[in-house]
Amino acid sequence: MALLLKNAHVVDPSVELDGVVDVLIDGDKIAEVGENLAGEGAEVRDLSGKYLVPGLVDMHVHLREPGYEVKEDIESGTRAAAKGGFTGVCSMPNTDPVTDNGTVVEFVKSRAAEVGHCRVYPSGAMTRGLKGEAMSEMGDMVAHGAVAFTDDGRGVQARACSVAAWTTARCSARSS
Ligand SMILES: [Zn+2]
Repeated sequence: MALLLKNAHVVDPSVELDGVVDVLIDGDKIAEVGENLAGEGAEVRDLSGKYLVPGLVDMHVHLREPGYEVKEDIESGTRAAAKGGFTGVCSMPNTDPVTDNGTVVEFVKSRAAEVGHCRVYPSGAMTRGLKGEAMSEMGDMVAHGAVAFTDDGRGVQARACSVAAWTTARCSARSS
């Protein structure tokens, strides 16, 4: 069933589009974007006064799983994200156990594949246990799909550790 979205204010920097147009969706594909589309046989919705944008990505999300499911979990966090128009989220590593090795990254990814409502891009901790003292297993985490490193709300105060972590992160990014 085709769906014709009329008069939507579309903002899509990838095609330098920022204006009011119609969008025709056929199945799960965008079939046509333009002015005054007919879309014969399509269900029509008037989006006058509304924005239509590509899927959003939230780069700082606390999914809390594993360890703090009483606050949030991967299923509920990604459901809320999807309801808000986010097609991807970057999960923070302050879980229990801390996401500071490939095993926890793997858990987050597999759990997201099982119950997630949007894509989950796991970040890993820069330091073991988020303690700011020794580097985490960055290479291992990259191999398992970590996309970024952060100690979230904490700074890495030990200078040597901070420099080593940044250097390793840069090398991991180059080799992945
Ligand atoms: Zn945070």
